[in-house]
Amino acid sequence: MMANRSADAESALYCVLGDPVAHSLSPVMHNRALAHHGLNAVYLAFRVTDIGAAIQGLRAMGIKGASITLPHKSRVMQYLDDIDPVAAEIGAVNTIINDNGRLIGKNSDVTGAVDALRAKTEPASKKILIVGAGGAARAIGYGVRNAGAQVTIANRTPETGVRLAADLEVDFLPLADLQQSRIDILINTTPVGMHPATAASPVPDDILSPEIVVMDIIYNPLETALLKAATRAGCRTIDGLAMFVNQGAQQFEWWTGRKAPLDNMRQAVIENLQEFK
Ligand code: NAP
Repeated sequence: MMANRSADAESALYCVLGDPVAHSLSPVMHNRALAHHGLNAVYLAFRVTDIGAAIQGLRAMGIKGASITLPHKSRVMQYLDDIDPVAAEIGAVNTIINDNGRLIGKNSDVTGAVDALRAKTEPASKKILIVGAGGAARAIGYGVRNAGAQVTIANRTPETGVRLAADLEVDFLPLADLQQSRIDILINTTPVGMHPATAASPVPDDILSPEIVVMDIIYNPLETALLKAATRAGCRTIDGLAMFVNQGAQQFEWWTGRKAPLDNMRQAVIENLQEFK
């Protein structure tokens, strides 16, 4: 690892734009990666309500790249020069690359989720149950379907789940029917189990059996009630930082062309997660 260098007049700027961003872990993660490679660059968080004005600012100041988070992932698209086909198809941009003044929108949640899974299991031809049908489920569902998985969506509000399943051309299952389905991989994309209501789990414990790989995308806490139940049932588990760090690693590689230091990035996030405890 190279020494951390201080910012100067030549420094490149990267940032996250969202609202809220006060607790975003992206700055510590990306600054650790930039420092690892000794790059003269910094990454900051900006709380932004007017995303159109922020994108004008990005252009005016030559900011090299940005992460886009809630609530701007869809609305930002109209202000960019180019949207890559994956981001266009799922209708969400979480990364902007400033290519010599041309702003390109991409989505790293898709590869982030698939890479997180691949570290433990290959999704191709597996039966994957995704619980939830929001923005994260859309990106993950798109990614694992394209990786060759057989995907089923289960959701509290059936209409939303049916709509996402239709968009992705995959199956829908009512939450009440989970017991009847054979699953290889279960992915929770709902906020159920997130701090402070940490005792809650999105599915009954008795659907978990040892051959299932269970992934939760919540990372606060890192070991959710679902992951605890999965460990007790003998399942292999993947925590929420896996997707978060992998999507950040993909952004870093798009921006810098350097290999992302995954372990260091994860460590930076864990050190700062503990500060919230
Ligand atoms: P979203 O668009 O608001 O979708 C939330 C989904 O969860 C909806 O399907 C909703 O169902 C369901 N849900 C909410 N509360 C529920 C409850 N009490 N019981 C059952 N289902 C419930 O949110 P999102 O952007 O997809 O994000 C979802 C979660 O993933 C958040 O906790 C977020 O922090 C996390 N996340 C993590 C990463 C990562 O990198 N690790 C990335 C993105 C998001 P209805 O349709 O019935 O409302």
